[in-house]
Amino acid sequence: MSRPRVVVIGGGPGGYEAALVAAQLGAQVTVIEENGPGGSCVLTDCVPSKTLIATSSLMAALDGAGDLGISVGAGHARAGADRLNARIKDLALAQSHDVATRLAAAGVDVVPGRGRLAGPGRVAVGDREFDAQTVLIATGARPRVLPAAAPDGERLLTCRQLYDLSELPDELIVVGSGVTGAEFASAYQMLGSQVTLVSSRDHVLPQEDEEAALVVEEVFARKGMTVLSRSRAVTARRAGSGVEVGLADGRTVRGTHCLLTVGVVPQTDGFGLAEAGVELDERGFVRVDRVSRTSVPGVYAAGDCTGVWMLASVAAMQGRIAMWHALGEAVQPLRLGWVAATIFTEPEIATVAVGVSQREVDSGNVSARAVKLPLATNARAKMDGSRDGFVKLFARSPSGIVLGGVIVAPRASELILAVSLAVERQLTVDQVATTFAVYPSLSGSITEAARQLMQPSD
Ligand SMILES: Cc1cc2nc3c(=O)[nH]c(=O)nc-3n(C[C@H](O)[C@H](O)[C@H](O)COP(=O)(O)OP(=O)(O)OC[C@H]3O[C@@H](n4cnc5c(N)ncnc54)[C@H](O)[C@@H]3O)c2cc1C
Repeated sequence: MSRPRVVVIGGGPGGYEAALVAAQLGAQVTVIEENGPGGSCVLTDCVPSKTLIATSSLMAALDGAGDLGISVGAGHARAGADRLNARIKDLALAQSHDVATRLAAAGVDVVPGRGRLAGPGRVAVGDREFDAQTVLIATGARPRVLPAAAPDGERLLTCRQLYDLSELPDELIVVGSGVTGAEFASAYQMLGSQVTLVSSRDHVLPQEDEEAALVVEEVFARKGMTVLSRSRAVTARRAGSGVEVGLADGRTVRGTHCLLTVGVVPQTDGFGLAEAGVELDERGFVRVDRVSRTSVPGVYAAGDCTGVWMLASVAAMQGRIAMWHALGEAVQPLRLGWVAATIFTEPEIATVAVGVSQREVDSGNVSARAVKLPLATNARAKMDGSRDGFVKLFARSPSGIVLGGVIVAPRASELILAVSLAVERQLTVDQVATTFAVYPSLSGSITEAARQLMQPSD
């Protein structure tokens, strides 16, 4: 029997993770990628930003070193843009190389260039054409650009242009207080920039747990950041040697640099999707079902181009699910309620999506109970000098099954796995509460929260 043929357009996590699964299942796989293996995730977005944040977190730790009895010396620790940005770019390229090596070892053929759907089961790159029973679209998204705030790559920047700066911004205006805006505002504040965060909403991170967002906003303010709430930026332009951001109410904000984080647009135009009949939604994202099928048989889509949830882990899972489904394996459709996500601010906010919010629990609209343990009550946090944050758990009433949680803490991204396991395995608070946690540890607050949610049996 001949091997099934799979062609993947786009080599980010949606594409390369799918390619690895397809190869493991015996398919002959080609990945077409125009920028480099690993895609934007590795080369410009997730990996570079988290590498930047590794440095800014260390700066934050140094900032608090005095409280732990360390004298950092008369001079102030300073990050240098040249070495910092060189490290970020080198690490991104090395990570891309690792992805290329993994794909090659799995027997996946990577073709550089821009792929185009040329017809049913046909993908073209330049004058080459590939046949495939299964095509996966994993072409990602790019930063949205507003005509009245066009980036110039020098002072007016998208998040992909930050690593070309030869100096750290003295005064950085961040427009947009969603995840990307909050992460960069936090990082550059720690790196020594004077940051102004322009937010059109009541508070930063409007999509997140309100109490978690408030903790981060308080830390921002304490570190000296200016947060302009309910302030919509309408223009951003060069002014003298700096920049000027115009707000809808007529005020202007001045700084040396401006970072624009005003959303993303899907990369779904100009390579034959519409001509092939692949249905897009009103914003241009590819419509998919929970096993990543598009409207065209044999064509699947995964990752940011579907707009389902802009996370590398979700992209990768959509890609794997697509291949398991296409190649005849048993498959569990995508469950968004199980997704763990982190906002890499200082402190981090990590959540397991619960489909239930604190507000709904408080109003009695859902039969669940919640408990929040401030970090300040945790012995390990006290030893570490960490005051800001909490561990919150939600459990269904009366069964006690863990529905999810929110952790605001240093390295919350590492702590949330315990909650993810509890949610996915449908553990009860009793089961979590009787699990041993190390003393002293931050994860001890997870078992303690579960204990507080236990209810005596009648
Ligand atoms: C600043 C920032 C930080 C982030 N941090 C995190 C994080 O910490 N954790 C997390 O989970 N997620 C994070 N994300 C989101 C994450 O980067 C995306 O969800 C992830 O990259 C999506 O993967 P993807 O495979 O869909 O697309 P991408 O990674 O965007 O890859 C798509 C690839 O397709 C290529 N392509 C497009 N069209 C074609 C074509 N026609 N032919 C050939 N190639 C094509 C593109 O060049 C690109 O390389 C972050 C995003 C940003 C912007």
